[in-house]
Amino acid sequence: MSTRALFREDAYLTHCEASVTAVDEQGIHLDQTVFYPLGGGQAGDAGTLTLADGTRIVIADTRKAKFEGATPDDAVHVPAPAQDDALSKLKVGDKVRAEIDWEQRHRRMRLHTASHLICAVLPYPVDGCSITTEYARLDLATVEPIEREAVEAKLNALIGGAHAVYTEWITDDEMAARPELVRTMSVKPPMGLGRVRLLRIESVDLQPCGGTHVRNTGEIGALRIAKLEKKSARTRRLVLELA
Ligand SMILES: [Zn+2]
Repeated sequence: MSTRALFREDAYLTHCEASVTAVDEQGIHLDQTVFYPLGGGQAGDAGTLTLADGTRIVIADTRKAKFEGATPDDAVHVPAPAQDDALSKLKVGDKVRAEIDWEQRHRRMRLHTASHLICAVLPYPVDGCSITTEYARLDLATVEPIEREAVEAKLNALIGGAHAVYTEWITDDEMAARPELVRTMSVKPPMGLGRVRLLRIESVDLQPCGGTHVRNTGEIGALRIAKLEKKSARTRRLVLELA
């Protein structure tokens, strides 16, 4: 039931052809997909699967599949409720066209890339993050005061700087030798696959990440800090929104 995660090679793929490998209580498993499964703080994709006869199945969410020997790439497409008729037509081996809600995903790619910029502007350990269509929320482990206007200005300068964004790969051994690359306390880089994916923002940031990002910081567009608060004695919470 293993899934080829096409979004890791190209986050801009909006659709693909795929074969149904299983249908179970978790949802629909495909041999390859453009749907990002919830993980690393980034929400799972929604969209549609279209069968050869034109029947459409609405996908509400995507999760990591759970089965013996599953890898972090194995995804399951979770259908929206009340689609029994459409689902009854679906069989293992069927060819489907899998298409994500691109408008939603692109907002998440912009906000996700922006959360990497936050790591560069505020170099504190990240103690939790959530990337949705509406906002990026980061909890930073620091007791230092954070000045909203200064941070907003630095962020918008990095966006205006139009820095290239791309992925690089290193081996598990190289990753183990460079623990300083890991910025997020709650999200461990996926080790055990032999190699680890790094996200580089040219001259700005480098850290392991399996999420989806825009190609250039200029594509993020204007941002604002919607909320900045003390979450606990040792944590500051920051919420970013697209302006
Ligand atoms: Zn990322």
